[in-house]
Amino acid sequence: MKKNSLKIDPTSPYYRVCLFPRCSQPFMTTRGRIYCCDKCADDHYNENRKLKKLKLERRSMDFEEEAPITIPEGSVPPSVKKSEPEAPSINQNQLEKNIEVFSSLSIDKKNGTIYSIKFLEDLEVDLRHYSYFFPLCNVKNGFCVMFGNFLTYLVSPLEILIFYKP
Ligand SMILES: [Zn+2]
Repeated sequence: MKKNSLKIDPTSPYYRVCLFPRCSQPFMTTRGRIYCCDKCADDHYNENRKLKKLKLERRSMDFEEEAPITIPEGSVPPSVKKSEPEAPSINQNQLEKNIEVFSSLSIDKKNGTIYSIKFLEDLEVDLRHYSYFFPLCNVKNGFCVMFGNFLTYLVSPLEILIFYKP
């Protein structure tokens, strides 16, 4: 590039300050140049490109860091939610049905009678609908489940002992 011979004159319309920040040298141009020399133009261009690339990289890094925070606080995916065990809701109609079926069974007055749960279920008994239940003091984890005046005890995984208590 041919150095122009114009004298630096801040009042001249040809007066410029190099746009490259690290140069910022005043210069004179009649050709509308914005840099004092080609090197400044190249350097500025390359620095801008580097800066842009850095900014892009930083932005993508920020994005990765911020991504988990975009999940609203307090919201838990449905699959993770602990489902509270549902309180057994007693269906009075089914309870009456159970009592009705028990009333039709022959039950030994003194010792009670053992019936298989399957047999009772076939008679449309649903043992989830009871009047009351209480733990037994003499049997660990044992319960007496009452259906009206009928007391039942689980005697095996498949059978219950039914008593009638008038
Ligand atoms: Zn320059």
